[in-house]
Amino acid sequence: MNDTKIGHDQGPCPIGRAGSLLGERWVLLILRDAMLGLRRFDEFRGHLGIADNILAGRLRRMVEAGLLVKTPYQDGNRIREEYRLTEAGADLAPVLRALADWGHRHTGGAEEAAPMRAVHVDCGGDLRPDNQCTRCGAKVGREEEAWIRPWHSPAPVRLAAPTAAAARRESATGATVVGSG
Ligand SMILES: [Zn+2]
Repeated sequence: MNDTKIGHDQGPCPIGRAGSLLGERWVLLILRDAMLGLRRFDEFRGHLGIADNILAGRLRRMVEAGLLVKTPYQDGNRIREEYRLTEAGADLAPVLRALADWGHRHTGGAEEAAPMRAVHVDCGGDLRPDNQCTRCGAKVGREEEAWIRPWHSPAPVRLAAPTAAAARRESATGATVVGSG
């Protein structure tokens, strides 16, 4: 049989497919920022210190892959577009948490920092990897989850809510996007 050299992005292995999409530093960092509520091009650029053309390319790729969706918003008397997480994008929250945990244990920064924490908004308890709250015992959904990154701020930041699934594919045509999640 002729080997047609199907790339990992098309192959049968889901780790290969996910890796070909996520295995790039900017994509992960844009995801992290989107998870923590950033939406606008200028916000990502300011926070990441990334060149315009690189950021634009990564955002386009993430929209094409269904991780983000472009949504119009009013800016003064102009309509601009911002980038919202889809369900598929928001579903990466546990992946980023696992990366944070691994990074804390196995990589070292220039300064020692306390680990990132995922907490239950209602009671402030830490979440286990399966999202059970260690304080009140509740099984905590994404809408009740917040992250604390102590090197950034001691304040917990709620995870951004994903847009409604219906909005996902419509922005490509410039059609009105329904549902703001
Ligand atoms: Zn709790």
